[in-house]
Amino acid sequence: MLPDNSKSHTRRKFINKVSAVTLGSMLFGSYANARQDKKREVMNTKRTAGKLGIALVGLGKYSGGQLAPALQETEHCFLAGIVTGTPEKAKDWKSKYDIPDGNIYNYENFASIKDNPAIDIIYVVLPNALHAEYVIKAAAAGKHVICEKPMAINVEECDRMIDACKKTGVMLSIGYRLHFEPHTQEMIRLSKDKVVGKVKKIIAKDGMSKVEGWRLNKALAGGGPLMDVGIYCVQGACYVSGMDPIAVKAKEGPKTKPEMFRDIEQSLSWEMEFPDGTIAACESSYAEDMNLLHVDAEKGWFELSPAYSYRGITGKTSEGKIDLPGVTQQAGQMDDFAMAIKDKRATPVPGEMGRRDLKILMAIYKAMDSGQRVEIS
Ligand code: NDP
Repeated sequence: MLPDNSKSHTRRKFINKVSAVTLGSMLFGSYANARQDKKREVMNTKRTAGKLGIALVGLGKYSGGQLAPALQETEHCFLAGIVTGTPEKAKDWKSKYDIPDGNIYNYENFASIKDNPAIDIIYVVLPNALHAEYVIKAAAAGKHVICEKPMAINVEECDRMIDACKKTGVMLSIGYRLHFEPHTQEMIRLSKDKVVGKVKKIIAKDGMSKVEGWRLNKALAGGGPLMDVGIYCVQGACYVSGMDPIAVKAKEGPKTKPEMFRDIEQSLSWEMEFPDGTIAACESSYAEDMNLLHVDAEKGWFELSPAYSYRGITGKTSEGKIDLPGVTQQAGQMDDFAMAIKDKRATPVPGEMGRRDLKILMAIYKAMDSGQRVEIS
């Protein structure tokens, strides 16, 4: 029988052996982790080299479903940071997109983003009534800004946003993704080059039958379908005609669900009158799915249907099909803004365009409420 001390000696040897193995694996583990971290750092540096860092503010459907995926395709900018009021989203996005803790903000500490050189651009993707506040805060932080459509809920807010950006010398752009979409660009070319003659009439319709949340709350949305999807008809009529309207007439549609649409319209139709006499007849609705941009010209017609979707935009003319590839519009839009910043050139979708559209939207509401033709100065 072995004396007790030799028993403990054996145990000690065993423990030492185990400790050595554990320590070895711990050391190897931390070495492997360090290598992993280094590898990730190198990959990240490669992925982000020379690109501008974008922080998305508000991680809702559009940020999560469209913008973050598009930022995996961009060549001149990347998803560097997030601003969210929901801690669980911060956790999910951090692991999904490899976002460092230092680039994760909430609405309370948002102002400290000014000290973060990794963030060059702040992209405001909040409910409409919060756009002005966060664009102005982003400008004060010295960051370039992209603001989602509609730019704000009234023209006065647009003025303050534009002024704030001018004051701190940052660029302001609106999330008008369709300007970077090939079928839309072809519609603009067909009109500008008078390929089937001069444009006589435009028909634009955009509506969706399912709506929920803040979009039904006037205080947050600023209005109903006109603010949300009708704005695409306003945009379509302006980019296809190449002009700004001089007057509008409008009529509210019936409310089939008055309890849901208490202080916003459920649907409306309106007309935009352009300086050369071209008329755009438009409709927007939260009761019906619609998606059309149709142009009648002197010798033929051209149209997109759907005209405003993220994918699957399809076009034809009186001469045949418009055969063009689909693109990730948001990637083109954000890359163009990043390049505009780098090249110190203007963005094709500036704050001033967002302001023009708010002016038109407000005139449409005035025409709808008064039943009168409203001139736009
Ligand atoms: P969601 O409701 O899906 O997301 C909005 C996010 O804003 C929320 O998830 C939340 O994010 C944050 N938020 C902060 N305060 C509030 C509040 N009081 N109420 C609700 N949300 C709040 O909206 P969308 O993503 O659909 O729309 C956001 C903006 O993007 C709108 O201006 C809309 O018009 C525009 N948009 C543009 C599109 C385009 O094609 N260009 C398409 C769709 C939308 P968090 O929890 O992270 O704080």
